Amino acid sequence: MSAVGSPEGADAAFQRPSRVARAERRATRRRFLAGGLGTLAAGAAVALGNAAPASATTNPESPYSVPRYRSRRDWGCDESLSKEADGKRIWPVEFYPVQKITVHHTASYTPWGEDEAAELVRTIYHEHAVEQSFGDIGYHLLIDPDGIVYEGRHSGGTSFPIYDIHPSQASRPPRAVVGGHTFQYNVGNIGIAMLGDMDAGGCTDAAWWSLELVIAMIAANTGITADGKSVYSNPVTQVSADVPNICGHRHYAQTDCPGGAMMGWMKDLRAGVRSLAAEMPAGTWLA
Ligand SMILES: [Zn+2]
Repeated sequence: MSAVGSPEGADAAFQRPSRVARAERRATRRRFLAGGLGTLAAGAAVALGNAAPASATTNPESPYSVPRYRSRRDWGCDESLSKEADGKRIWPVEFYPVQKITVHHTASYTPWGEDEAAELVRTIYHEHAVEQSFGDIGYHLLIDPDGIVYEGRHSGGTSFPIYDIHPSQASRPPRAVVGGHTFQYNVGNIGIAMLGDMDAGGCTDAAWWSLELVIAMIAANTGITADGKSVYSNPVTQVSADVPNICGHRHYAQTDCPGGAMMGWMKDLRAGVRSLAAEMPAGTWLA
C-alpha cells in the first residue's frame, strides 16, 4: 500500500524557524553535548528529567539544552477518566518494537505559557479518552511553543514515558506502548503532537528544537535511522505501508495533519535528527 495525501515539500515556502536560531542551536548543541548529554546516561537522566534547571524556558545559558518534561501527574491528568469503575485501565497497555515516528499537530489555538498548554493537553485528553471513548489520550508526547514536552499515553506507571524499559538500562531496544494517533498504523508507531496549528507556520524555535531532540533520542534509543524509509507492517493486523521512518500523519491518511508548513519541513527535520542522534548516547531519555 502506498502513502496517500499531499507530497511533502509542497508547502515548504512557509518560513521555518529562523537561520539565526539554527546557528544558535548548533552552538547550543556543542555545549549540550560537551556538558549535558555526557551526564545523561544511566541514572543521571532521571535527575535531569525531573528537575527544572535545564528547562527550555528558564536556562538563559543554554536555552534549548534539554527539553523540560511534564509527566501526566504534572499536567494534571485525571487518571479516573482512563479507568473502569474497578480501577482497571479502559485501554490496556501493550508494548511493541518501534518501527516509525509520526508527527502531528493539534490544529488548535496556540497555547502561550505552560498553564495554558497544560489546559490544552487536559482538553485533548478529555476529547480522546471520554468523547471519542479511547480511554486515554492518543498521542505519546505533545510539545508546546516553549519546547516543553508533555507525557501523553499512559505507559504502565513508570517514571519515564512511552517505553517498557528505560533506554539507559536496556539490553535490547525499548518497546513502545500502543497509542491511538494514526488509524490502522498505531502498533509500533510513536505519535508526537505539536500543540497549535502548523498549517501556515506557527512553530516556534523552541518547539522545533524539542521536536528534533526528542525524535533524535527515540532514534538513538531504538536504532531507527532518521532518513530511512521502509515498509511498516502492523504486527497485529498485517496492514502495511511503505513510508519514511520519520513522517507526518498525512503520509498515512487523507488528513491535513500535521499542517502544510510542518509537512514542508520534514526533510529538514530528518537532517536535524540524523546529526543529533549520531552524537547521542543510546540511553538518553526525557526522564
Ligand atoms: Zn494527526
